Amino acid sequence: VICYIGIGSNLDNRRKNILRAIGLLKKDKNIKLIKKSRLYETNPLAGPAQGKYLNAVLKIETVYSPHTLLDKFKAIESALGRRSSSIKWSARTIDLDILFYGKRIIKSKKLTIPHPEIKNRIFVLKPLTEIAPGLIHPVFRKTAKRLLKEYCIPHKK
Ligand code: AMP
Repeated sequence: VICYIGIGSNLDNRRKNILRAIGLLKKDKNIKLIKKSRLYETNPLAGPAQGKYLNAVLKIETVYSPHTLLDKFKAIESALGRRSSSIKWSARTIDLDILFYGKRIIKSKKLTIPHPEIKNRIFVLKPLTEIAPGLIHPVFRKTAKRLLKEYCIPHKK
């Protein structure tokens, strides 16, 4: 299954964290990295005061189920030293999100796919449009490029 993954970091050596996470993904024989966007520097959109983020989007192919993929991502997050914080939207060493899992629409206790915040996150829409401008969002039925064009929600702090 072709999946798109959002990746971000705003603590310590952000670039190194992202590259290490990508390295760990590549080491998994059930995950094939197909494409990666450039790194985008963005301001935090919410949460307590914190440093800027580096973000990227990856295109991968995997045989893992969505929930297994999520577990793999959590393992990578903890391997890179991410502590679970009770504070919503607080700074993080690494964050991996499943943006799309094929064309599947999933709503479970642990997973919402497509990721519900895609359309509100310029730091997702920009790198996504770089690597997959024609990708169609299975819920909105619009391309990544179109969602980026329509993105105009001013974010309140
Ligand atoms: P975060 O603090 O943003 O890393 O939130 C992580 C939690 O969000 C995970 O424990 C997941 O259960 C949940 N979640 C829901 N939908 C997704 C998704 N599409 N990708 C990753 N995590 C998700």
